[in-house]
This record gives sequence, C-alpha cells and structure tokens, in this order.
Amino acid sequence: MTQSDICIAGAGIIGLSLALELRARGLSVIVLDSGAPMQEASTAAAGMLAADDPHNPPELFALSHLSRSLYPSFLDRVRDLGGIAVPFQTHRTLQALAGNRASTLPQELQTELLVKDSDAVVDPGSGFTFLREHSIDPRQLAPALIEAIASTSIRTLYNSPVITTGYGAGRVTVRTSATTIQADHFVDCTGAWAGSSETDTAFLAIPIKGQMLALTLPADLQLKTTLRAADIYIVPRTLGPGKGRAIVGATVEDAGFDKTVEPAAIESLRQRAISLVPGLAHATIADTWAGLRPGTPDRLPIIGPHPTRSHHWFATGHYRNGILLAPATARVMADLILGQSPTASLESFSPSRYTLSLAIGVQ
Ligand SMILES: Cc1cc2nc3c(=O)[nH]c(=O)nc-3n(C[C@H](O)[C@H](O)[C@H](O)COP(=O)(O)OP(=O)(O)OC[C@H]3O[C@@H](n4cnc5c(N)ncnc54)[C@H](O)[C@@H]3O)c2cc1C
Repeated sequence: MTQSDICIAGAGIIGLSLALELRARGLSVIVLDSGAPMQEASTAAAGMLAADDPHNPPELFALSHLSRSLYPSFLDRVRDLGGIAVPFQTHRTLQALAGNRASTLPQELQTELLVKDSDAVVDPGSGFTFLREHSIDPRQLAPALIEAIASTSIRTLYNSPVITTGYGAGRVTVRTSATTIQADHFVDCTGAWAGSSETDTAFLAIPIKGQMLALTLPADLQLKTTLRAADIYIVPRTLGPGKGRAIVGATVEDAGFDKTVEPAAIESLRQRAISLVPGLAHATIADTWAGLRPGTPDRLPIIGPHPTRSHHWFATGHYRNGILLAPATARVMADLILGQSPTASLESFSPSRYTLSLAIGVQ
C-alpha cells in the first residue's frame, strides 16, 4: 500500500500543474495516468492563451485573467525545475469582433500582418481588433513539464488507470489494477474521461472532438500573429521544432471518444484558412491529428470538492481553455485543498451544480 498526502488521477496539463503546485507547498504527491503523460488533449491543443476571446463565457473572465498573469512564473518554474524553457510563440492575436462572420481578411490587414508584420492599428470598421495575447506550443510544454515533474519528489505511476476510489478512516483509497494508494486527498484530473466509468447516470465530462492540421508555411509568408475568426483559427509557431508552421483548427464535434482524423474535415479547415489568408494556398500539410476536449453540459470547468465524498476533488472540464487555465487551476485547487480562500471565485465551477455521484470508478 503506497501512502501519499495527495493522489492525482490524470497526467495532462491540469494534473501535472497541480502536482507541481502542491509539491511546492510541501505536500507529498503521486500522479496516476491510464497511459503516458501529456498524450491527450494537452498536446492536441493549439496553445492559445485566449483570456480575452469574446466567445468565452463571462464566468471564465476572472480565472482566465488570473491564469494569464501566472503564466510567466509557471513557465519559469517549469524551466527552473526541468531545465527546458518554453517560450511564448506569439504575442498578439487578430480577433474577429463578435458578429463578424467574414471569411476573408481585409487586404490592408493581410499586407500589414503577413508581409510587414508591423504594429498596425486596426480600423474598427474592419470587424477585427488586436488582442495582447500569447500562445505557447503544447508540444514544447509537454517534455518540459514531464522533466520538471521528474526533477522533484513527485511519484508517477503511468499506464495505471484508476479503477476505484473509496473513503474510510479519514483517508481516500485509490485502486489501480497494479496497486492501492492511500492519500489524504484524491483529485480527479482525468479530462474528458472524468466520470465516464460511473455506474449511475451522472456523466461529468463530455468528450468534444477537435480535428486540427499543421501547415508548413511558404518562405514568403511571414506569419507571427495568431488569427482568430468565426469557426477558424491560425496559430503560427515562430520558435522551436515547429518553427515555420501554423496550426489550423479546429472542428468541434460530439463524437464520443473517437479520435479518427477525417480527410474531409481537414480539407474543410484548410479551405477556410485559405479563404481567410489566400497566401496559405501554397502551404503544405505537415501533420494532422484529433484530440478530446473535456467538455461539460454548461461548458464551464468543474473545480472543487465532490458534493458527497470527503477529501475527493475535481479539476476538470476545461473544454477549450485548459492550456490557458492550468496555472490558475493549480493555484486555486491547492488553496482549496489546504483550506485557504481561493484567489479567484469558484462559484460557477462548483461540482455541486451536478447532483449525482461524479467520481471516476465504481465504489
Ligand atoms: C483540438 C484542440 C485544440 C485546443 N486548443 C486549445 C487552446 O488553444 N488553448 C487552450 O487553452 N486550450 C485548448 N484546448 C483545450 C485543452 O487542450 C484542454 O482543455 C486541456 O488540455 C485539458 O487538460 P487535462 O489535463 O484536463 O486533460 P488531458 O490532457 O486530456 O489529460 C487527462 C489525462 O487523464 C488520463 N486518464 C483518463 N482516465 C484515467 C483514469 N481512469 N485513471 C488515470 N488517468 C486517466 C488520460 O490518459 C490523460 O492523460 C484544445 C483542445 C483540443 C482538443
């Protein structure tokens, strides 16, 4: 029987960020994953830190802005521990204003952004605006985060799905096929899988499939700004192994746990990207993939205590913003577990808004 202060299920960005935060606050932590770390939504993501996306639910504003402010120190911590720096890839986003369904970027913006990449001021009449917004490459973050975890005393058990959890004598018992762990607290960070093996009808997370592609940009297309319009975004990679590519996404599909990449969906995304930026017609497809966003019925995260089980917590349901929200989620979850007032209001994210039993596994 392994003992730990904290047992976290799920080694995506949410689980690993929380593990680092709790370890920094002096707690012993063990992280379990049914597969390898950072192999699911957290590496499928485009990596936009879109705190000011006008399409975000208003309830996300405070947590998003807290997370954005924590990002530099989060990346510093990851680098200081594991030795791998994760740079911001982009520093601004050209955002289509709400209601702007334009499928083509106005010519003057194409010239400014794609050729000169200057700090152009956008005419509000164009239906676009600039946001001061960063992006990261999740495929750079993944090895950096894994190295950071490995450099600490955090224990990891991969290829070990949590099968059951139970509570007794003031401790949570967590069973995998190979081992049993006793911990003071259990945190469900299993993303799209949270609650999926319940026997009752409570279905905590809803997998929302997103298909994406990476384009290798032609040499004459100097794209350094993220573009986000209705139903399409283009996120350039400017540093590291992905340099010279742009990520184009993404479909939003209710398709269960299916992660099949469909050529027709990829071509539709590519055509929409070309329509927005005609110069992309000369870009070649470098990669395609699909990932599962952890959705919830109200599209808000689930952060807080299990409604009926003691010492059992949730940090999941981050849907389209889990990369952005990871540092703040780690901060507020650690506050909650340690009995401190969380830095941001979590009222809208309470698990108790769902009534039935929500834990992963069967008791
Ligand atoms: C196409 C796409 C584009 C996106 N773009 C962005 C973006 O630009 N910006 C942004 O902020 N967010 C974006 N997101 C959303 C973001 O990727 C997610 O919100 C975030 O990665 C969720 O992290 P997570 O750790 O909760 O989940 P995951 O990364 O999916 O990790 C969950 C982990 O739990 C493990 N697990 C499952 N069941 C069990 C079990 N029983 N026991 C133990 N472990 C288990 C899984 O193996 C997995 O490793 C995007 C997502 C997709 C799919």
